Amino acid sequence: MHWALVGASTIAAEYMVDAFRAQAGGQVAWVVSGSADRATGFAGRFGIPHATAVLDEALSDPAVDAVYISSTNEKHLPQALAAIARGKHVLCEKPLAMSVEDAASMVRAAEAAGVTFATNHHLRCAGSHRAIRDLIASGRVGRVLSLRVHHAVHLPPHLQGWRINDPGAGGGVIPDITVHDADTVRFYLGEDPAGVVAQMAASGMGLNVEDSCMSVWTMPSGAQVFAHESFTHRFAGSGIEVHGTEGSIFARGVMTQRPVGEIDLVTEAGREAVPFEGHDLYAEGVRLFAGAVEGKGHPAADGKDGVKSLAVALAVREAARTGIRQNVDYGDL
Ligand code: NDP
Repeated sequence: MHWALVGASTIAAEYMVDAFRAQAGGQVAWVVSGSADRATGFAGRFGIPHATAVLDEALSDPAVDAVYISSTNEKHLPQALAAIARGKHVLCEKPLAMSVEDAASMVRAAEAAGVTFATNHHLRCAGSHRAIRDLIASGRVGRVLSLRVHHAVHLPPHLQGWRINDPGAGGGVIPDITVHDADTVRFYLGEDPAGVVAQMAASGMGLNVEDSCMSVWTMPSGAQVFAHESFTHRFAGSGIEVHGTEGSIFARGVMTQRPVGEIDLVTEAGREAVPFEGHDLYAEGVRLFAGAVEGKGHPAADGKDGVKSLAVALAVREAARTGIRQNVDYGDL
């Protein structure tokens, strides 16, 4: 599969170029940036043959099968629609767009064009999260009563740009991290949050956007979810707990980009360590995407998953802004 990268971004540099090249026949053919100099610099750094500041130049290359979009969030919509219009398959970063309607329009356009469209929710690809989902599905914890998501991290200095000061680019911890938590909970439970209450804060890093948020979600099954996201917590560590009528799962250090962490299951029989696979999360996501393009299987998170995680995040932000409980509006997909 020949890829065009749209966005000379950190995530592309740190994880995705390697993930594309990890596939048999996976090649990165183009990088597109808003700046010709940045495109050329990125291409030189990673040995990418073509660089351009003109998106259509890359999209008009018939050798390009798929496009990976990792620009700032407000650019995802026009770039995805342009790629889809050219018949390219699209793997788009989260949050898919700035609004649920825009995200849904991307999914509809891809369906109409008959191309594969997926969201890069990497946590679904982690051995740790798959192991937790499997424990829940196998009934080891009984009926799920509640989940606690601990995703308050410290945004590294090299990422302290648009995320902490630019609402127009989609900054803020809610579009950045709450979307991942929403997707992970949906992945575990196979149901969509119905209503949310929330509070948000700027606790030292955010300028014009929130850098911290706590929210509580109600699931249709009656399970409750508590989610805590932040950019400002240096030593909190991440984790997720699932509490059921027959057992509890305690996972530490798993809300991350790397295949790390520890999981314990506690039941009446005692505490046991839960093993999980340690493959690369992003390479696994690209592998599933490439399979879906070939008609074999499904992307880890498809377009609708991306719309839904965004819908939860935007409901959380609205609940925090108004102080009023919000029903999550998933649009009309
Ligand atoms: P970056 O800030 O690194 O890149 C975003 C854009 O900023 C780039 O596309 C680039 O624009 C521009 N940019 C990059 N470096 C510079 C610079 N030195 N000067 C000026 N502009 C610059 O963002 P991230 O890689 O952190 O995030 C990109 C997207 O990926 C976001 O949508 C984010 O939510 C998502 N993401 C997803 C992750 C996941 O695990 N799924 C993890 C991290 C991010 P241009 O392309 O025009 O050059």
